[in-house]
Amino acid sequence: MKLLSFFGRLPVREIKQQFYPPRFCCMMCGYEIFEGDLCADCLKSIVFNAGATCPVCGRKTAAEEICIECKARLPSYKRGVSPLSYEGGTLALIGAFKNGKPYIAYFLAREMAKKAALLPPADGLVYVPMTRKSLRRRGYNQARLIAREMSRLTGVPVLDGAVRKTGETSVQKQLSRAERENNLKTCFKADRAAVKGKVLLVVDDVCTTGATLNAVTECLKAAGAAAVYCVTAASVPHYKNKNIK
Ligand SMILES: [Zn+2]
Ligand SMILES: [Zn+2]
Repeated sequence: MKLLSFFGRLPVREIKQQFYPPRFCCMMCGYEIFEGDLCADCLKSIVFNAGATCPVCGRKTAAEEICIECKARLPSYKRGVSPLSYEGGTLALIGAFKNGKPYIAYFLAREMAKKAALLPPADGLVYVPMTRKSLRRRGYNQARLIAREMSRLTGVPVLDGAVRKTGETSVQKQLSRAERENNLKTCFKADRAAVKGKVLLVVDDVCTTGATLNAVTECLKAAGAAAVYCVTAASVPHYKNKNIK
């Protein structure tokens, strides 16, 4: 009876943690570990954006300079950062995060919060939204999970519902760059009352071409946002991006 009343006062998540302490298994492969989130092998397989990056979009570059894409056309957001480079084991990590291992958000958000500390302070976190249909299919919005955990770590509030996604973009991969952008432009809608005059940090899992971040940024700016920055868990290195036109 005493035990029941003890658990009665705890939220469900904390009750779960009493039985499954979160740090006893590698988040990626499940191997037994005694500290950290990932085992040594998984951690070694992940590629961090530790070297040269583009000071605008944050992608890994061969030298510390603005990448060719940003030189050709600056993104709509002021600056983007990503702790991980989307190559090697990072693909498996993000894949696992999007497919049934939502708790990887704890690891990603911590790394992202460290990178986001390089950006000016934000008034609010905005996550890239999903349509209801995609949300039902996956069961969770991975960008929202990261944003919530980042908020817990940094104290910056998540602006839930600040951007809504109204159209489906599942065929994006087959489209040309111009077609993707046009398709995306009409997909997002921002809530003026929530974003007007604010410095915002857009949160997402992966920056591939930057088209999604640009589309979300443009709708936030159209709704009166003062400035928009972006943080993604991983970004495709700029030199591996050549084929995505
Ligand atoms: Zn592992
Ligand atoms: Zn760049």
